[in-house]
Amino acid sequence: MSLSTLCLHCGMCCDGTLFTHVPLQPNESASLTQRGLPLTAREDGTVVLPQPCAALNGRCCTVYTERPEACRRYRCQLLNALAEGEVSLDEAKGVVDAAHARVEAVTRALSPMEGGPSSLRQARAAAATLEPQAREALTQAEAFLDRHFRGRFRRSG
Ligand code: SF4
Ligand code: SF4
Repeated sequence: MSLSTLCLHCGMCCDGTLFTHVPLQPNESASLTQRGLPLTAREDGTVVLPQPCAALNGRCCTVYTERPEACRRYRCQLLNALAEGEVSLDEAKGVVDAAHARVEAVTRALSPMEGGPSSLRQARAAAATLEPQAREALTQAEAFLDRHFRGRFRRSG
């Protein structure tokens, strides 16, 4: 069973659901820029790859063999649990589906708000001003993502 089967079902560590950016090593910027990927310079002088990642096509990384070291190293808690046999692939896919559903519940709760936030990222930025239903959906989505995905970092070997 290939662990990438789960990631091709998920994409949430690339599409902006879990992270806002990928930290880059100093020597990684040039090749990504050459591939046409927009990078962001931060106030501290570092350069990052913003998310949703422009290299993501659907749930597939289009620069997979040349992806940054941080992408190579990253495994979410769920992928670690799958690798260690704590969950089956079907169970893990079910958790991913449940996470996607919670994220969609946030955007659904936002949609009636004319001119308001329309994505998970915008909802996070405007969390203090959200209507109660949207705020509750955001709270539930973040708790689910924390519980099943965020957390341990490990080399993927
Ligand atoms: S969040 Fe986890 S399961 Fe989803 S693509 Fe990233 S490493 Fe794979
Ligand atoms: S470079 Fe590839 S692995 Fe890294 S965030 Fe972008 S799509 Fe994901």
